[in-house]
Amino acid sequence: MLSSTEYENLANRLLELLDRLQPELAEVSRTIHSNPETAYKEYQASALLAAKLEEHGFQVERKVADLDTAFVAYTGTQASPTVAILAEYDALPGIGHACGHNLMATAALGAGLALQGIARQLPGRVAIFGTPAEEGGGGKVVMVQRGAFKGVDAAMIFHPATSNLVDGTSLASTRVNIIFHGQASHAAAAPHQGINALDGVIQTYNAINALRQHLRDDARVMGVITNGGHAANIVPEYASAQFSIRAADRRYADEVLEKFRRCAEGAALATGARLEFNIIEPSRYDNVVTNSVMAQIFTEKLERLGLKVDRSGIKEGAGSTDMGNVSQVIPSIHPYLAIAPAGVSLHTDAFREAAGSARGQEAMLNAAKAMALTTLDLLVKPHLLAQAKQEFAALAEKGLVKGL
Ligand SMILES: [Zn+2]
Ligand SMILES: [Zn+2]
Repeated sequence: MLSSTEYENLANRLLELLDRLQPELAEVSRTIHSNPETAYKEYQASALLAAKLEEHGFQVERKVADLDTAFVAYTGTQASPTVAILAEYDALPGIGHACGHNLMATAALGAGLALQGIARQLPGRVAIFGTPAEEGGGGKVVMVQRGAFKGVDAAMIFHPATSNLVDGTSLASTRVNIIFHGQASHAAAAPHQGINALDGVIQTYNAINALRQHLRDDARVMGVITNGGHAANIVPEYASAQFSIRAADRRYADEVLEKFRRCAEGAALATGARLEFNIIEPSRYDNVVTNSVMAQIFTEKLERLGLKVDRSGIKEGAGSTDMGNVSQVIPSIHPYLAIAPAGVSLHTDAFREAAGSARGQEAMLNAAKAMALTTLDLLVKPHLLAQAKQEFAALAEKGLVKGL
């Protein structure tokens, strides 16, 4: 155990290192921002981050979990305990870095480089995880499934937003493709010989409209028809739709998914069309479960940096993130720091501008500092990591997280 002076020296050293790294980090952040790459194609961003980490003495594993643009970089004196800091770097199709993942990438890089500066004094290991394809591709879903997080004791990631919120949540989400196979026929001359696949889709859609009245408020079921047939004089033999099914927790989201399946099966029975029900596995984003011990530490660090944390308990409409899947297997936090005024929505041109602005850079640096300090605490104050893990174990016992 360190004396309080020794601890303060290390904490101050991290802050000094990050102030010194600021120009280099800002440059990396701008480079990624102006070269947006979408899910699983983040070749330049992942290569740049891995190279920077290697340059500064990290041991880098590339193509982790058989994903071209995933990596893990390690530093420290011993393999256990391991604290992970996660980076995302994928952009959105068409509108670039309108979710600010360039800042997430650089904050993780910065925290890693600062911790590398004191690595010899750390009784454990720091792992910087490069995680691709958050925007729909489920990079972390695949990485969790393939065991990339085995041996990690705690994980954190920062996301840009419009307020400083440490205990935000996200919805568990699943996408499903439904396909109905019918029988083509002349729509006027021999409709009785046809089986209308489009009716299968429409009946499903209408059954969902009735079902929605009887779902919990947090549930969301939305769909689009992706193929509705070819011509009005042919009974459609093929029709398809994609639905997104979400709820505040995985258990209820799965319950809604089964209700949705019954709606589609009912439509198949009613129409005589054959149903193909395809869950898109990497789209299964679990809800984020915030570890309160880690959240408390992170909040203290933000306050040390002079930031105000939103404790109003008011949470704006939540989306979904594959960090949820990490939080289901390891104690985790997914805090948000403001880079734009309230009312600016993520996934807009305005948010993309914010992600490239000086305010964005400032939030990125604060996030890097808070993550570096939180990691320091978890490694040099073993009772804190033990508490975080105990809380996680208690949630696992209640079935509220899955565990590794
Ligand atoms: Zn996004
Ligand atoms: Zn995002």
